[in-house]
Amino acid sequence: PITLGVMGGGQLGRMFVQAAQAMGYCTAVLDPDPASPAGLISHHHIQTAYDDPAGLAELARLCDAITTEFENVPAPALRKLAESRPVAPSADCVAVAQDRLQEKTHFVQCAPISGVFPAPYTGIETAGQLAAVADDLLPGILKTARLGYDGKGQIRVKNRAELEAAWTQLGGVVCVLEKLMPLQSECSVLVARGADGKTVCFPVQANTHHDGILAITEVFEGAVPVELAARAQASTVAVADHLNYVGVLCVEYFVVDNGAGGSDLIVNEMAPRPHNSGHYTQNACDISQFEAQVRALAGLPLNTPCQHSPSLMVNLLGDLWFDANGMRAEASEQPVVPPWAEVLALPGTHLHLYGKTSARKARKMGHLNITGATVAQVRETASLALALLGLPGLP
Ligand code: ATP
Ligand code: MG
Ligand code: MG
Repeated sequence: PITLGVMGGGQLGRMFVQAAQAMGYCTAVLDPDPASPAGLISHHHIQTAYDDPAGLAELARLCDAITTEFENVPAPALRKLAESRPVAPSADCVAVAQDRLQEKTHFVQCAPISGVFPAPYTGIETAGQLAAVADDLLPGILKTARLGYDGKGQIRVKNRAELEAAWTQLGGVVCVLEKLMPLQSECSVLVARGADGKTVCFPVQANTHHDGILAITEVFEGAVPVELAARAQASTVAVADHLNYVGVLCVEYFVVDNGAGGSDLIVNEMAPRPHNSGHYTQNACDISQFEAQVRALAGLPLNTPCQHSPSLMVNLLGDLWFDANGMRAEASEQPVVPPWAEVLALPGTHLHLYGKTSARKARKMGHLNITGATVAQVRETASLALALLGLPGLP
């Protein structure tokens, strides 16, 4: 049998494994955690560190091709695998996405073709650079160049004093200071690119964040203004082409006030893998983002995905498993289990849980996809589901 491998065993790896297995492939996961969501359901689970030479050799031995499910897999490990097996995306592409400075440099290089710029920014590596920051970057957001996610590793600063305190608080590591932009909304675009350079885009996702974490994604015609959506897709293709990227790539955008009564697009960051905002594709498109990842990795044709239903995705965070006293389900005498039967009684609801054994607050435990005949129906169902779950209402 052909075996497809994935570096990382989180929920994205799990859903890659599910898509690969549905198409008849064997799978291998490398993740040190014995309870990793992908490792639990994979044919093979190598439980070593990501940079362990023996683990990498075993993965290469087992697999015909290898992908990654999170951006912090050490690039040298991917480079090592690529000596003997096809690896997509490449170590070079993943390395760019791992470093906000390289990522933004890449976006600036793409801007003449993509027509979309990042927010004004500067790199901060030394106290001297910190002191020399231009006034017009404040108020801003100081972000660590590496390892930040879900809004972690970033601090909003209004003035120089706050900037200096924030840099100290972040440990004086290499950072990016970005100007705080007047966001009207946020969106993201998934592109799949084959080894032959062919690209296909998914419909543009309109995203709502709560406390720096994605809460809701809505995807239907007009969820993002049509002209901006087309520009975001063209920009995403340019970003992928210019990296000679192979696999599924997600690029996040801000829609900002252009100061003239209209809107403009700003490119924020990219993820070298399927993305949380793309989970709706599992139930609303004829090809999911994970099937696209399998196809790109296996060298199969990439057809333009067709969305057959308006859709809305709700992230299910660990908070849902805590009771009013802050007790976790396992520890509580009256365990809190979200009311799945009531939620699933609503037509067009599709529950995806990641098999994580312990809930932590803000931990991504699963998601709920909602489909329906019309946008109004999808939003009505979503409102009812959010109320049942005790979550804030729709944006
Ligand atoms: P992710 O979990 O998506 O990887 P992250 O931790 O890498 O997130 P960003 O996407 O850079 O962080 O920022 C998180 C959120 O903070 C954005 O979705 C947006 O809501 C807000 N934000 C980030 N940068 C800016 C900015 N320059 N101006 C205004 N808001 C911003
Ligand atoms: Mg990020
Ligand atoms: Mg982000």
